[in-house]
Amino acid sequence: MTENQAKERRIRVLPPTVADKIAAGEVVERPASVVKELIENSIDAGASDIHIELEDAGVGLISVVDDGCGIPPEDAVLAFARHATSKVRDVEDLFHIRTMGFRGEALASIAAVSTTTLVTRRSGDLSGTRVLVRGGERLDVGEVGTPVGTRIEVVDLFGNTPARRKFLKSAATEVGHVTEMVTRTALAFPSVGFHLKHGQRTLVDFAAGKPAERLAQVVGRDRAATMLTFHHQTPAGDVHGWLSGSHVSYPSNRQIFTYVNGRFVRDRLVSHAVTAGYSTLLMHGRYPGAVVFIEVPLDDVDVNVHPAKSEVRFRLGGAVHDLIARAVKECLRSQGPQLGADRGSDGSDRSVGSVRFSSPGAAPPIGRLRLVPLTPAREAAAAEPPRWPAQPPLAPPPEVAPAAGFFSGLQVIGQAFEGYLVCQSGEALVLIDQHAAHERVMFEKLSKGYGAGGVARQQLLVPVTVDVGPQAEAQLAEQAAELAALGFEIEAYGGGTVAVRSVPALLGDEDPAKLVRDLAVEVAEIGRSRQLTQAAEAVLATLACHSAVRVGQTLGRDQIQALLASMDGIDFAHNCPHGRPAYITLRRGDLERLFKRT
Ligand code: ADP
Ligand code: MG
Repeated sequence: MTENQAKERRIRVLPPTVADKIAAGEVVERPASVVKELIENSIDAGASDIHIELEDAGVGLISVVDDGCGIPPEDAVLAFARHATSKVRDVEDLFHIRTMGFRGEALASIAAVSTTTLVTRRSGDLSGTRVLVRGGERLDVGEVGTPVGTRIEVVDLFGNTPARRKFLKSAATEVGHVTEMVTRTALAFPSVGFHLKHGQRTLVDFAAGKPAERLAQVVGRDRAATMLTFHHQTPAGDVHGWLSGSHVSYPSNRQIFTYVNGRFVRDRLVSHAVTAGYSTLLMHGRYPGAVVFIEVPLDDVDVNVHPAKSEVRFRLGGAVHDLIARAVKECLRSQGPQLGADRGSDGSDRSVGSVRFSSPGAAPPIGRLRLVPLTPAREAAAAEPPRWPAQPPLAPPPEVAPAAGFFSGLQVIGQAFEGYLVCQSGEALVLIDQHAAHERVMFEKLSKGYGAGGVARQQLLVPVTVDVGPQAEAQLAEQAAELAALGFEIEAYGGGTVAVRSVPALLGDEDPAKLVRDLAVEVAEIGRSRQLTQAAEAVLATLACHSAVRVGQTLGRDQIQALLASMDGIDFAHNCPHGRPAYITLRRGDLERLFKRT
């Protein structure tokens, strides 16, 4: 270390003029917030390996050990003072923040609500320093022998603030938050090893490596292998990462991980831009999976806006949005042909849901992806995904409202655009969206089984192991009983993998690994807000959607008849489980009006 570097690393208490400009925040809310602050400190200290251990979900103990630069002995006590930091000095610095931390508040806040021990040594020092603080009060300082780096032990978290402890959720939930925090931080720092244990259980064991290896460690090897990598550079900034192809989608935007200058952020502008890059390739309400790193000049982004530092403000928001959307679009353009997602290049597109087909005159080859540069106006339109009308544009008129055997009694004329069944019933044409209809059938059957005591299971001959990543492994294991009622027998297998012993019998032809990966996303989403029992419908709808015939699939007569017959066997045949109409009717009179015969 040069003398200058050493000087830079000295801790000082920020003068009030600077401290007042810092977005104050209660940073310690739960064990995961403690872990976040401590690993950010380790990263700022240049650590190459970080070991995190929890006891009793972090309430008993949180220990974080790093091999970073350590703290000078004369500063170890100061590190616990409020607004004491080595990372920022004056107001100017707040506009060029290159470190994860900058407020000098974390250690003070953590030590105020726990018993915290700091043990630290710099590489040049013969011995280290130990500081013990309880409830914000310094109890002991001394010299100790210790390896180079820093160890922080937080014991009895919220022991002196019982109200806050009461707000903690179940141990599994709190550990889940920590795991999520660690894995998403790890994604941005592949050259740092991350290791997390809860008691005897190893939850994360990521050796340092290349970015692509880290992606595989975090999202699972199979899923990582299907993601497209991209890199796009403009004067406004640099954006790179990985994207799921347009044939993969998720029910929420939680699979979009976005980072600004290495910091994980939840930013509406950024995630909107990512989704906009997919524009009409995804259905409304479906989101891509993406890991997006945005690097912009330090003074183009304000990170000092949110207590948990998880939001940012861009100086040139529009340019950043553009940069991201464009990068995503370019990447997807290069992915090659996709079935069922087709768009035309002229202004005469008829929007059918969010899958667009051209009018016959300009028909592009069906089944081949053709992306065209969007004009600004269309880009804006594409950015706001089309909403489904609450009412189907042409509701089934009373005279053709389904009676018993209505669908199987239809005269089948044929299949149009590999997506719509054209049928006739007496005085009306009935157009059926094959995907929406089949989806509704699958959903109703699954729901019926669930309501009757559990979805029928099909045992797999050999259990299938699926690499879902450590967080999903824990969540799926935690919900095992609920998942069994949905037809899935799933067990934690260790190392981010689960073993699948059965799948819903109705979905027996589907790839179990794919089903389980969809399920994992759904469970992660639900786990945050509700119990799985209350959200079974959403899970069943997702499963139904994924197993239903697609637009773009040619159906034979027998298949069409079978689908029609099964539509007769269910309630609510009018709509798919997402509310879109499953069929529309055109009466003879409607046609006559269109042809101006009346
Ligand atoms: P901030 O990170 O915002 O500066 P903290 O309260 O988190 O504030 O930490 C205070 C100071 O303690 C840091 O600025 C840094 O100098 C020092 N520090 C904390 N943790 C470590 C660590 N793991 N390794 C080296 N120095 C550390
Ligand atoms: Mg910090």
